[in-house]
Amino acid sequence: MKIRVDAAKCQGHARCYGLVPELFDVDDYGLSSVIGDGTVPVELEERAKLAIANCPEYAIEEIAG
Ligand code: SF4
Repeated sequence: MKIRVDAAKCQGHARCYGLVPELFDVDDYGLSSVIGDGTVPVELEERAKLAIANCPEYAIEEIAG
């Protein structure tokens, strides 16, 4: 599983970071980006899906890979 954050949609609630800080980084404005290339370790897949479901802007996407 691999994910990305659409920077055009992210509004900086940092909710994803609060849920899975192992996968997301936030800048000084609370805007999120994935750590590394967005590859999700198997043990974090369920929490990654939780972050996707809880992003109010639908900014987190699962991508191929
Ligand atoms: S929860 Fe969504 S909108 Fe909020 S920081 Fe994360 S990606 Fe951005």
